[in-house]
Amino acid sequence: MSWTERTIEPLALARPGVDRDAEHRTDEAWLAAAWSHPTTRVLVVSGGQVLVIDDTPGAAPGGAPAGGGTGGAGPSLVLLPSFEAPEGERYFLGTDTDGVRHFALAAESLPGRMDGEARPAGLREVGGLLSRRDAGLMVHAVALENWHRMHGFCARCGRPTVIAAAGHVRRCPACGAEHYPRTDPAVIMLVVDEDDRALLGRQVHWPEGRFSTLAGFVEPGESLEQAVVREVAEEVGVPVGEVTYVASQPWPFPSSLMLGFTAQAVSTGIRVDGDEIHEARWFSRDELTECFEAGTVLPPSSISIAARLIENWYGKPLPAPRR
Ligand SMILES: [Zn+2]
Repeated sequence: MSWTERTIEPLALARPGVDRDAEHRTDEAWLAAAWSHPTTRVLVVSGGQVLVIDDTPGAAPGGAPAGGGTGGAGPSLVLLPSFEAPEGERYFLGTDTDGVRHFALAAESLPGRMDGEARPAGLREVGGLLSRRDAGLMVHAVALENWHRMHGFCARCGRPTVIAAAGHVRRCPACGAEHYPRTDPAVIMLVVDEDDRALLGRQVHWPEGRFSTLAGFVEPGESLEQAVVREVAEEVGVPVGEVTYVASQPWPFPSSLMLGFTAQAVSTGIRVDGDEIHEARWFSRDELTECFEAGTVLPPSSISIAARLIENWYGKPLPAPRR
């Protein structure tokens, strides 16, 4: 199995389980009918959090009839019929493989639940544990909510904007400008040397022992490959040659798209910038295994593409983070 085949499929937060049905976003009659249809389900999102129910094996599935659906242990989204949804802006998310229409609803707060089983959760916590469909719904809803929350005013004229296209556009009534959801490209790369050692760094604000791949935002007028070369040079002073794309992952914290690469180091001398990166080291697989066992290196969160990039080089799953 190739690097790419192993990488793309299991990435949490990059699992399409819903057809976005974009052609319906400007059809108000269709949207109104879809909203009021009895099988339609609504995911309430507030401040990046949603309600989830923790399924336990053998227990009755929680949530509304069309909700849940992991079919086993692990959390599932609480999806409400539209007549139970609170007030708020609606975003049309799409149609799942059972033909159920899904909306997100951005509310001031999450609704209380009489059964007491539901709990609020964020994407970092449950994104990697949800079913394919639920992960796709949640990442879409959270990304849109982040964007709407930050873009209430027109970047051209400064007047208030209004929601349009079922949550996928904001329009300015004053000057007519249309604003589209923003995604900020960021490159994330595993640098490997000619001895097949991997370069991992620790950011200034990370705890002792936490190491991961290098990463940074793409700048205006720059290609992805140029961004990889520049970021590695800036952060650790290592020149890299060949840059190879691996996979991508939406990362709506608040609006990034992580584009994963491997990069081949031309030389191995390290000079950390001390600004973003506090320390960086070359690791062979054996050295990394020893460090994991001794607890001197802590792996990155399993939800992130960083973990997947390291894992594909390492050749096996990384140990679970210690608590
Ligand atoms: Zn305007």
